[in-house]
Amino acid sequence: MKRIYLDYSATTPIDRDVAEAMKPYMTDVFGNADSVHFYGRAAAAAVDEARRTIADAINASHTEIYFTSGGTEANNWAIKGVAFESLQKNIKKRIITSAIEHPSLLESVEFTEKLGFENVILPVNRDGIVEPEILENALKSGAALVSVMTANNEIGTVQDIKRLAGIAHSYGALFHTDAVQAVCSENIDVKDTAVDMMSMSAHKIYGPKGIGALYVKKGIKTERLICGGHQERSMRGGTTNVSGAVGFAAAIKKAALERDENNRRIRHLRDAFIKKIITEIPDISINGDMTARVPQNINITVGGLGDDALLHLLDRRGVACSSGSACSSGSLDPSHVLLALGLGRRQAKASLRISLGKYTTSEELDEAASIIKDCVADLRNLQKK
Ligand SMILES: *Cc1c(COP(=O)(O)O)cnc(C)c1O
Repeated sequence: MKRIYLDYSATTPIDRDVAEAMKPYMTDVFGNADSVHFYGRAAAAAVDEARRTIADAINASHTEIYFTSGGTEANNWAIKGVAFESLQKNIKKRIITSAIEHPSLLESVEFTEKLGFENVILPVNRDGIVEPEILENALKSGAALVSVMTANNEIGTVQDIKRLAGIAHSYGALFHTDAVQAVCSENIDVKDTAVDMMSMSAHKIYGPKGIGALYVKKGIKTERLICGGHQERSMRGGTTNVSGAVGFAAAIKKAALERDENNRRIRHLRDAFIKKIITEIPDISINGDMTARVPQNINITVGGLGDDALLHLLDRRGVACSSGSACSSGSLDPSHVLLALGLGRRQAKASLRISLGKYTTSEELDEAASIIKDCVADLRNLQKK
């Protein structure tokens, strides 16, 4: 059976050029980047270059990039690091975030309640956008930190980070953003948006799994999360993932080079696909703002269905996509993101995330559309019986 991968927001394959760039650092250049000898120095030089490449890609300094094991760790660190730091000072024990954040962010914020934090979860509007006035209102009672994601992983909506960061700063709060889903398609400039911290991950941008980074603006004080050796300027212990760092750098560099062309092509494919399914399948609605949105994301609710049977039926027919997010697929809970948009529990469960990537073709999408059409018709017929 031919298989069609439409789950690029869950993870991407490693670009072949990226895999080639990584290879020498798994075999020949295998040293521990902290060793003083020749092997260690060779590894350290590669990590240093990777750090500079990643910094350049977001207009940061290499001293502001801290490697982590991925986006999850970067989010945990951003939130808990500021929380631990705040405990040592007389800073308001309050974090403000949005209702549509990734679980790694939301659960980290929830964790800080054990440290005495009283947090605020901001609602989003029907289109999945955090309204600046609502943030401003919440900030009137003070906060140590505001964290709002750049692009959402389930509905693809992109927030006005520069504006939100500006509001946070005007109330003396730090600002963090989870940019994991945005790094590929958006041209991110941390000097322009003026964020204090930003999370990234390589495996969402055609790089390897198990590596990411937290950008921490110079002068921002935060506690470390992982204690150990003096790696990452004593801010994150653990032997450096050298091939991962090299792969992450190769991936972010290539993403920038290909960005405009990939975005144009993917947006075109997406719009044609949406048009097709909306005209051919009755009662389909799109979730999330269609303008402030990363090009690769499609999120639909299929009217009349009330569970995730469609997802499993599609898998049997070779189409791989996702219900809500990978983390919530397989569990019976409806997506917290779709509920935040105001969808009912049944509607949220009958929703599908179809995420495109640079290897997606129009033939694949035509085939996927007709398979989705068949499966929806079958399920609706079954429900009538
Ligand atoms: C995938 C993802 C993460 C987690 O990143 P990992 O590297 O898989 O730990 C965090 N936030 C968002 C928005 C994501 O899409």
